[in-house]
Amino acid sequence: MRNCLADDDFVFPQCPVCQKMEKSKKRLQIHVSKRHRPRPTYRYMCPMCSKNYQQTDHVRRHMARCHGVSRDQQGQIQKLPIESFSNLATLKH
Ligand SMILES: [Zn+2]
Ligand SMILES: [Zn+2]
Repeated sequence: MRNCLADDDFVFPQCPVCQKMEKSKKRLQIHVSKRHRPRPTYRYMCPMCSKNYQQTDHVRRHMARCHGVSRDQQGQIQKLPIESFSNLATLKH
């Protein structure tokens, strides 16, 4: 039995995105959140004014507040791939 297996096997936590090693998990978390902010893949769109939000709940709250549509009248919230928004942004010259 090797008692110091844990020490021998110790590897620095590594960033899954750019393979950079950090000295601790905490530092890696900071690195990832600063360098590679995880982006949601979808956004949810208000059917009335095309404003988009990261969560259905935000759309529902927005619809209730801005359009006076209560939650049970809102129906399905449209889910759109985030690329469609970034494409729109890059389209303008
Ligand atoms: Zn990284
Ligand atoms: Zn709206």
